[in-house]
Amino acid sequence: MSSKLNPFEMAQRQFDQVADQLDLSPDNRALLRNPMREFHFQIPVRMDSGELRVFRGYRVQHNDARGPCKGGIRFHPAETIDTVRALATWMTWKCAVSDIPLGGGKGGVICDPSTLSVLEKERLCRGWVGQMWRNIGPRTDVPAPDVGTTPQMMGWMMDEYSKLVGSFTPGVITGKPLGGGGSLFRTPATGFGVIVTVREALKHLGINGKETTCSLQGFGNVSQYAALTYLDMIGGKIVAVSCWDNQDKCSYTFSKKDGIDPKFLQSITDEYGTVNKGRAKEGGYEIEDADAWLAKDVDILVPAAIEGVITGDTVKRISKKVRIVAEGANGPTTPEADEVLKANNVFVIPDFLCNAGGVTCSYFEGVQNDMNFYWAEEEVRTRLDQKMTVAFHKVLEMAKARKVYMRNAAYMVAIDSVVKAMMLRGWV
Ligand code: NAD
Repeated sequence: MSSKLNPFEMAQRQFDQVADQLDLSPDNRALLRNPMREFHFQIPVRMDSGELRVFRGYRVQHNDARGPCKGGIRFHPAETIDTVRALATWMTWKCAVSDIPLGGGKGGVICDPSTLSVLEKERLCRGWVGQMWRNIGPRTDVPAPDVGTTPQMMGWMMDEYSKLVGSFTPGVITGKPLGGGGSLFRTPATGFGVIVTVREALKHLGINGKETTCSLQGFGNVSQYAALTYLDMIGGKIVAVSCWDNQDKCSYTFSKKDGIDPKFLQSITDEYGTVNKGRAKEGGYEIEDADAWLAKDVDILVPAAIEGVITGDTVKRISKKVRIVAEGANGPTTPEADEVLKANNVFVIPDFLCNAGGVTCSYFEGVQNDMNFYWAEEEVRTRLDQKMTVAFHKVLEMAKARKVYMRNAAYMVAIDSVVKAMMLRGWV
């Protein structure tokens, strides 16, 4: 199911293609093709057993021409420096395309957080900050949660940083818990933003949203709130979602012909986004194979789980009815599959535009931390809707003006903005 292509090679290939179309100068290419800075470090952690374990940690700062680096920290057993590099690069484009004054960064630790006790996780988080605190900060690099990390962990990291610098600094990290410097509406922000871009795409294509059907991959944070927002804002029907099953070590699709109920499914889903199979069956859901979500006869597909799922192979299973692919996940479509989607005239809302709602809300969190004044939920939602709508149309206008695929148009908007900032700062 997953792409064999190294994610950083994929990010570089996407960049190269657009750099050629833009006729970008060699200096700009040299600066943007690779990260500006990388940190590789060891984190010694005293385990509950008394034994010492050494974890491998990373932080990649891809580009900070437009502002402090921004991006999550992933705790995952299969974490690699190339995944971190790719994600940091995509963060640069994501912040630029959504016009928030931040650059791109990403971090990680090779570990399986599900095997660590709460105290071990806390020591690991504090250890990560212990290695990185001189090189992060509200005006330098602002981490956030990602796969395997939680708001509580961000709270520990913020506390450790504040202790080390000797001053309460909530703006060093975002995705903090509510009451601990977090922003209202951060939890639904990414899924909400995905559907704002779908709403605008439907308008552009002249499709009545109420008559649409949709299928999603994943049932975690992004997918759950995308599903809820889709029903609320668009009003169509969702026929399937899929998720990974931790016990069976494979994924399943949960479908219902007359439409799934995301609220019910949420009530039977654990914190890792795994839907309870037994209870779903009792609720009248059909349980199908991993890729069934992708083969549904729907108008809209929302891959919102992991990278490399729409590949040269799986793209063949996508129904001819599909008009929109909204990439809630980062890097779900391989370059080979992109060519097929392009040829079939599918309207792709590329990942770093489609899922930018999360980082935009994180930016709002940092702004609120700086002001020490917190906005009402409605204010966050309205501002987020505005930002996502403007970003979508900027990319669409670029796609129309240069007659290019939406992904290339998003890259063009983003690269243009970063290059301008580098020129204004006299880097190139
Ligand atoms: P999550 O951990 O909350 O949920 C992930 C979901 O994907 C779970 O339901 C899991 O069961 C499912 N999944 C995992 N492997 C799968 C597989 N092989 N097949 C089917 N389902 C599978 O994660 P999330 O926060 O929802 O993030 C999902 C994606 O969106 C990731 O690519 C992430 O980088 C991206 N993203 C997240 C945010 C955010 O704010 N959470 C922002 C931008 C991008």
